[in-house]
Amino acid sequence: MMITGEALIGGVAVQGTGTPIRAYNPALQESMEPAFYAVDAQQIDQACRLADAAFDAFRALGDEARAVFLETIGEQIMALGETLVERVMAESGLPRARVEGERGRTVGQLKLFATLLREGSWHDVRIDQALPERTPPRPDLRMRMIALGPVAVFAASNFPLAFSVAGGDTASALAAGCPVLLKAHSAHPGTSELVGRAIVKAVELCGLPAGVFALLTGSGNGIGQELVRHPAIKAVGFTGSRSGGMALMAVAAARPVPIPVYAEMSSINPVFLLPQALAARAEAIGQGFAGSLVLGVGQMCTNPGLVIAIEGADLERFASSAAQALTGGAACPMLSPGIAGSYQRGITQLAEHADVATLALAPQEQGKGAPALFRTTAAAFLSQHALSEEVFGPASLVVACRDLAELHQVAESLEGQLTATLQLDDGDLAVAQALLPLLERKAGRILANGFPTGVEVCSAMVHGGPFPSTSDGRSTSVGTGAIARFLRPVAYQNLAQALLPAVLRDNGAAAWRRRDGELTRN
Ligand code: NAP
Repeated sequence: MMITGEALIGGVAVQGTGTPIRAYNPALQESMEPAFYAVDAQQIDQACRLADAAFDAFRALGDEARAVFLETIGEQIMALGETLVERVMAESGLPRARVEGERGRTVGQLKLFATLLREGSWHDVRIDQALPERTPPRPDLRMRMIALGPVAVFAASNFPLAFSVAGGDTASALAAGCPVLLKAHSAHPGTSELVGRAIVKAVELCGLPAGVFALLTGSGNGIGQELVRHPAIKAVGFTGSRSGGMALMAVAAARPVPIPVYAEMSSINPVFLLPQALAARAEAIGQGFAGSLVLGVGQMCTNPGLVIAIEGADLERFASSAAQALTGGAACPMLSPGIAGSYQRGITQLAEHADVATLALAPQEQGKGAPALFRTTAAAFLSQHALSEEVFGPASLVVACRDLAELHQVAESLEGQLTATLQLDDGDLAVAQALLPLLERKAGRILANGFPTGVEVCSAMVHGGPFPSTSDGRSTSVGTGAIARFLRPVAYQNLAQALLPAVLRDNGAAAWRRRDGELTRN
């Protein structure tokens, strides 16, 4: 399949009329062909209108038909073969094994949502039958979830497949029955076009209205903001910077009809080293931590950017083990010159900070990221907010606390996080028990004796968390729970069976249902 540099609107390739951008190969440090022209306001409007027109037909599709559509997207992605793998590697600097693994994850994610659709519980059917004899009489009430409407999805730079064009936001929105308008990330436009074309092909093969999916190309805040402002758009999915997410939240809130924004932004993912675990296995924890920190050149939303522990010889053992593992780390290409530049600025600020000591700083190179580990005191951390800001890349900060009370204070001072990790042994259970209620308030996922990188795609996963890790901590962007972001409930009171949607009829399609308060399968 050829990459032409075009946007995909209404099932056809169209050239944008705005400023062109080119992909950049971070390993070779050179730009790539072809040029991708930015879509203009008219093209965005056309894509949104087509999505709006396609919405009712798309959401009315049965679960089986939408499941087949998701599976067909997966098949079309796999059919891109080497062309896709090589383009992702070139545009992202990520190695083959990671790219192939991410492709498997993307296709697996689409299949998981297909399974969810066939299983049927996502409708959340509730039926409270009429009680005409009751005083006052109760009407017949039936509820189900319906799709919100066309969703604007902003692809992430750090997962060019699994959080991009056919990633978790797109898969969950399409599963819900929402057409998707995809703002391609300017860091991997060729990858975006290839995957976009695979989706367009699946739309065609499944006989769906062409407005179900559009790929919008180009760079610049105008495209995204125009899209979020469009009256046809009913929700937004975003993964990226805090400033970008906040800007889109402001646009969405200022609309005549405000809409929800599900933005995943910044998280430093604290790792707590509890005393007994630290005493028993400081070196092993240090090595495991270093492995997690450098995964994907640290460009993971769940990168362990903060370590919190009580000062002393055990923490020194952890620090020197981690520092030793990190010091020899190579400088690797980062996803984009912008991300590499902001990583270099972040570690320079920490290295030059009066209250921060450098534990490890591997030789850095322009456009690349090499590991770095810093250390500060709890007192300095608590008094200077800048020390808790995300440095996106393979860098972390160890916060040494005087005692458990200070460790709690540091935990309490943290902003909302995607994850919080406990390294603990049996002797730490009481300390962990005391921390847990606090961590529940701070994070979307709490894990023990592991590291936060590696996010399983399954039903129980929560990849979300209180602000600013996400804009709305009541949701997850990974796992089947992600579908809930793009649904809303509708209740039907005293409607005749013939008028009711199939899932709500007495003898309707099989689905889990809560009938008069009791969960049953029809
Ligand atoms: P980004 O700059 O926020 O860009 C994400 C997407 O949003 C891009 O499509 C971008 O357009 C668009 N955008 C950004 N600001 C906007 C605004 N004010 N109005 C409208 N659209 C806007 O994110 P990034 O390029 O992926 O990475 C930059 C930083 O984000 C990283 O250094 C890191 O700190 C953070 N990040 C965090 C995560 C996470 O998972 N938490 C993941 C990735 C990145 P363009 O394509 O034109 O730039």
